[in-house]
Amino acid sequence: MVRLTIDENRCKGCGLCVRACPKQLLMLAEHKLNEKGYHPAEITDMAACVACASCARTCPDAVITIEKE
Ligand code: SF4
Ligand code: SF4
Repeated sequence: MVRLTIDENRCKGCGLCVRACPKQLLMLAEHKLNEKGYHPAEITDMAACVACASCARTCPDAVITIEKE
């Protein structure tokens, strides 16, 4: 089982992780603003995540962490 965590309040909504996911599981949450005033990234289907870590490696601010259980 994969646990992907996005530290929402550190996200700057750049969208790089959205483009990096080969499974297209990430999106910017249009309905939500974080403390910095950005739309943070969120995962749409945790069960479909293959833990490739492409998103985490791409994020310039190391906002995403991935743990395998
Ligand atoms: S770990 Fe891979 S499959 Fe999972 S959300 Fe990130 S880029 Fe997508
Ligand atoms: S790459 Fe990082 S800072 Fe940019 S949207 Fe994704 S989680 Fe947020």
